[in-house]
Amino acid sequence: MKLRKETIKVCVRMRPLLRPYEDEDVWTIDQSRNSICSISNPLLSPPLDLSQISLNSLKERDVRRRYTDFLGTQQFNFDKIYSPSDTSQGIYEQTCKPIVHSVLGGYNGAIFMYGQTTSGKTYTMLGTPELPGVLPCAIRDIFKLISSESDYEFNIWVSYLEIYNEQINDLLSPGSSNLKIKEDKRFGVQIVGLTQHQVWSFDQVIMIMNFGEEHRMYRETSIHEHSSRSHTIFRVYVESVDKQGKRTFGCLNLIDLAGSERLNEFEVKEQEQLGETGHINRSLFVLAHVINKLAEGKQQHIPYRDSKLTRILQQALGGNSLAVIICTISPAGMNFHQTLSTLRFATRAKTVQNDPQINEITDDSSSIQQYKLEIDKLKSELDINNQTLVKIDKQNKELVKQLQIYIDEANTYKEALKNSHIASENSDKSGEIKQLREKYNALVGMFEEEKVKKNLLESELKSQNKKFEEFMQNHKETQKQLEDYLKGQRPVVQVSEGNFIENIVATINTELTKELTGNKIWINKSKELCESYSSEIAALQDKYSIILSKILKEALPPQSQNSENELPNSSNIFQDIHINFTTVLEEFLRSANSSSDLTEIMIEKLKKQHENLSLQIENRYEKARSSLENYYQKQVTRPELDAATITGLTAQHSEQLQDLRNQYENSMQILEETYLDTLKVLDEFLSAEGS
Ligand code: ADP
Ligand code: MG
Repeated sequence: MKLRKETIKVCVRMRPLLRPYEDEDVWTIDQSRNSICSISNPLLSPPLDLSQISLNSLKERDVRRRYTDFLGTQQFNFDKIYSPSDTSQGIYEQTCKPIVHSVLGGYNGAIFMYGQTTSGKTYTMLGTPELPGVLPCAIRDIFKLISSESDYEFNIWVSYLEIYNEQINDLLSPGSSNLKIKEDKRFGVQIVGLTQHQVWSFDQVIMIMNFGEEHRMYRETSIHEHSSRSHTIFRVYVESVDKQGKRTFGCLNLIDLAGSERLNEFEVKEQEQLGETGHINRSLFVLAHVINKLAEGKQQHIPYRDSKLTRILQQALGGNSLAVIICTISPAGMNFHQTLSTLRFATRAKTVQNDPQINEITDDSSSIQQYKLEIDKLKSELDINNQTLVKIDKQNKELVKQLQIYIDEANTYKEALKNSHIASENSDKSGEIKQLREKYNALVGMFEEEKVKKNLLESELKSQNKKFEEFMQNHKETQKQLEDYLKGQRPVVQVSEGNFIENIVATINTELTKELTGNKIWINKSKELCESYSSEIAALQDKYSIILSKILKEALPPQSQNSENELPNSSNIFQDIHINFTTVLEEFLRSANSSSDLTEIMIEKLKKQHENLSLQIENRYEKARSSLENYYQKQVTRPELDAATITGLTAQHSEQLQDLRNQYENSMQILEETYLDTLKVLDEFLSAEGS
């Protein structure tokens, strides 16, 4: 179904002055006539410094033109003009709603925001939670409409992309950037790898939208610069199926364009002359160019392919789409020329005609059916061909056999004929010879006939083989067509709602992995270090034990081996701590006549052993003390106890504590004594050695 040719709707929204940065209002709006008119004000400062005029002729022309613009009054009319007091909701209801509704009916729709940076494009598109922009209004409306519709079943997907520096980035799939465009015969321009998310509720879409926005902010350090230079396209795909299974498919493009101040044609030309084309927002420039060409209305080449934006939005401009351009402007005198340039763009855009039509999708099942029939037909053809092929081949083989028989027989007769001929010299055998000759000739004749038949069969075999090959090729083509059909019939939905969350989780995981990989490097490094240290230590220990065993060979015989030095006053709880220095002492005695270094090492060892034992005793004491305390703590806090019992328990506690203290001090004393004794033994030994 086709709507009549539609011109693109163009409306203008003027935002309030942004105080205190902006100066006075220089435009008046007449909403009843949908017109906007500039207030001529010679007191406003000129847009360029006149002393710069002679710089180059381009600039000079620009300055002249700006002056002329500036002095006269400028008036424009549009489909609708919105004043600072109009809300985005109101703009949606009046200007965008009809487009959104037709998308549900299977048309394509596009809503553009055009204007200089800070003129209110994003404000109008997204808005705030309190004052929603046209995007949230559209989404709310779509879900409201489909919930009230019982004759159709709807499927909705969304995608969100940005074009920055002529690169297409998927805002809903972090890391997915510089996507490629593919032209598909059946489905037009496709963005390869752009994720589409199936959605079922308003909140879900808003969550997705916010995710995309955050992702966009996250990517760039200077978000303001980034957003003024990038275009974003939020797409809503709506598939509807009626009770008879008829499908339609509509796509709504919500486009927030880059700031149009980058579009001053003189600056563009100047930059081009200077070779600084990187500064030009190519997409926006081409968009203006495309609009100009479309506005001329002539049959001519439209340069859609010159930029990513116009390629993606080809259908929305002069194609199969209903479209509205909302031009946002600032009322301030300081923005006069930018506003004027926006209004001029808007005027040209007003005349562009589109040719909207419903995207009816021939039912999947009937198309598949058709393909299946085709495949079946080809298959039966293949069967027949195959059978003929086998038959011809068989006949051919039979003939070859038959021919061989003829040849053999003919050869026999020929031989016989030859023999009879020799014999005939002696006797008259002419009758016999004649007979043989006839038989031979008959056979040769038959042979020739069969040979012709064989050749015929062989050429048939060849042509059948060719048919067979062609069929196989054909079959492949049809299969591929069927697969493409199934793939391309609907938007390729790579990510569902569940997957969307998975996607976020995946992002977090990637970040975490990055983080962990960083840490891992350090962990591995430390491990390596530890390993190298421990091997060094092991090597040292080996070296040391060799020296030790060498020393032991020459050492004194052990003095008091196995003296299991039981503690004299071994108390109950310190009982198993064996306070002795025997092992160290023995070691020392065995190596005492070695170097003085070793003597020092041994004394160190004794000290260590002493420290170790005293630590053991202290720990044991502390443990016993605290368990005693815990026990009594529990006892005395029992609610049924009277005061006397508590006093009794407390006394018992301090008695046991005292006992423990005594045991501890006792052990410590033994330790000290044993230590001193050991040292004394050592000393005696050393002085004996010395003398
Ligand atoms: P753009 O996207 O065109 O660069 P923004 O939408 O970010 O501009 O708007 C710039 C500033 O102006 C923002 O602070 C925004 O809140 C404010 N603004 C824009 N339009 C309006 C409006 N119609 N009413 C009130 N404030 C507005
Ligand atoms: Mg913006």
